Amino acid sequence: MPSQAETLEFQAETRQLLQLVIHSIYSNKDIFLRELISNASDALDKLRLESLTDTDRAVDVSDLHIELEVDRDARTLTVRDNGIGMTRDDVVELIGTIAKSGTAGLLAKIKEAKDADAAQSLIGQFGVGFYSSFMVADKVTLRSRRAGTDQGTLWESDGEGTYTIAEAEGLPVGTAVTLHLKAEDSEDGLGDYLADRKIRQIVKQYSDFIRWPIRLAKEADTDGEGESDGAAESETLNSMKALWARPRSEVTEAEYSEFYQQISHDWQAPAETIHMRAEGTFEYEALLFIPAQAPFDLFSRDTRSGVQLYVKRVFIMDDCDALMPNYLRFVKGVVDAHDLSLNISREILQHDRQISAVRRRLVKKVLSAIKTMQTGNADAYTKLWEQFGRALKEGLIEDRDNTEALLALVSAASTHDAAGTTTLHDYVARMKDGQDAIYYLTGENRAMVENSPHMEAFRAKGYEVLILTDPVDEVWVEQVPAFDGHRFQSIAKGQVDLDPADEEDEQARTDKAQREEDYAALLLWLQTTLADHVKQVRLSTRLTTSAACLVGDAHDLTPTLEKMYRAMGQELPAVKRILELNPTHPLITALRRAHDANTDDPALAQTAELVYGSALLAEGGDLPDPARFTRLLTERLTHTL
Ligand code: ADP
Ligand code: MG
Repeated sequence: MPSQAETLEFQAETRQLLQLVIHSIYSNKDIFLRELISNASDALDKLRLESLTDTDRAVDVSDLHIELEVDRDARTLTVRDNGIGMTRDDVVELIGTIAKSGTAGLLAKIKEAKDADAAQSLIGQFGVGFYSSFMVADKVTLRSRRAGTDQGTLWESDGEGTYTIAEAEGLPVGTAVTLHLKAEDSEDGLGDYLADRKIRQIVKQYSDFIRWPIRLAKEADTDGEGESDGAAESETLNSMKALWARPRSEVTEAEYSEFYQQISHDWQAPAETIHMRAEGTFEYEALLFIPAQAPFDLFSRDTRSGVQLYVKRVFIMDDCDALMPNYLRFVKGVVDAHDLSLNISREILQHDRQISAVRRRLVKKVLSAIKTMQTGNADAYTKLWEQFGRALKEGLIEDRDNTEALLALVSAASTHDAAGTTTLHDYVARMKDGQDAIYYLTGENRAMVENSPHMEAFRAKGYEVLILTDPVDEVWVEQVPAFDGHRFQSIAKGQVDLDPADEEDEQARTDKAQREEDYAALLLWLQTTLADHVKQVRLSTRLTTSAACLVGDAHDLTPTLEKMYRAMGQELPAVKRILELNPTHPLITALRRAHDANTDDPALAQTAELVYGSALLAEGGDLPDPARFTRLLTERLTHTL
């Protein structure tokens, strides 16, 4: 090792990840080569782009390629590229650390994973990239020189916690990664990675569509027979055809799948492949995939679009969010636009009319592909909705142009089916005569919603209610005006009238008026007594068995939303709700009698508070002062014995 070698420690998370990789998380070790080739290919893309956009810098892009070289005696395999290269700082930053957000969370999940398969699926989503080298090598040496600089860097590690880094003289521009292969004895074991046949097979399988030539150098002649002529012979292993530029009929499922796995770091095949070509004034090809499984960080703040932008086969950028709305961030793929400048920036893309048109078209395509899955394969659709339903529902808030298409995809739990889900279309088909709204109730989980007192009259009268338990549900139901002409109505908001016929019935009207009169004094008194807790007290038509429940006005925050906002640190005034009483419940009738007999009885105020507290508990709410509630309850119970 040259002078000025320095030994540094891997960042803690990197070290942990390395241990996981080395101890064979991947059952398929072959992918190390795919990862190194993919890095080399990225480096070539970057250099080519730099040569096109930064014309001040003289870089040689005349023969960009990747070279694989085997040295059987030394038992090394080298992957070399003449791409952009790395400076010393780059190497420390990019190879010595894992800069990806969410690494810590992922590591925790991997450790909790029950079995190797679960762990592999998690780590597969993450893409360990460069570190996969340590699955097959006990030492890795990386030599690199950044284009436009003179100083080379040598990095070396055995993957055991530290690495050394030093200056290196006389390196060509680009990067060479040399793997000192582990000496393992099995017949089909690691020795294979030195065999041309094995290398050819792996490249063909995983990297055929890489747009740069991947050359296999003929092994250097070590017998000293004749002098090296410098231009060693080599063989190009890949076809280099951009998959998206080929006609769909000529691409096999396996090729799509390999390509998808390469760009997504997923280990499974995609659930759906969309391959399209647009001709005319603005030409482009798009190859998009809907994954089978959501990435672990789908809902983390900085997850970005999964679409790469190319211009005429030249890689321009990852995460092109101008091409895919945020709610479809799980869609992976490539868009190759023919009529854009290579200099195009994210800024400009965001405002480009053509790009907006492409994006609209891609969104329609993705939504219709999902729709096709919904009608074609119920099981696959259930799985898709489990993985991406929450993200798709964000579209109901973000994407007004596609509200109808998105509503058609919604799959929701409902009182119609104790275990399964329903589409809105099926819900509407089952609506009762005279029912005009789609009823729903939001809450934290299915059991809590189903057992909520608000359900009672709806259940008793046979009205179906959607059970919405995703936080995002709270928001879209408020924003989407209607489905198929039917508005969405929370059963915990406003007045409900499930017996409109009663209005015509003379007897029913008289009964109702009588009840209102009987209860007027109690309601008034309760309203004053509970003024700190509720904004109104009234008689209910939605209860059959419970004594009371809490409801909101049409535009009040729901308790879940209120909780969400508070959890996000927002200051809110207390949201007061309406207490509804069941006039046929023995507790309420007893309360009325006690009130009419003696308003000053202290037991009365205690009971009022208990009724309010119980209503809050019944819907899964949190009591403002549980100790006080328990004390009142104990006191009341003591008096009954
Ligand atoms: P990823 O490719 O997902 O970013 P890797 O672990 O494969 O993760 O690589 C980490 C980073 O190291 C790359 O993003 C790149 O910046 C840098 N890198 C790796 N290999 C090369 C290479 N051959 N040439 C230039 N940079 C490289
Ligand atoms: Mg990589």
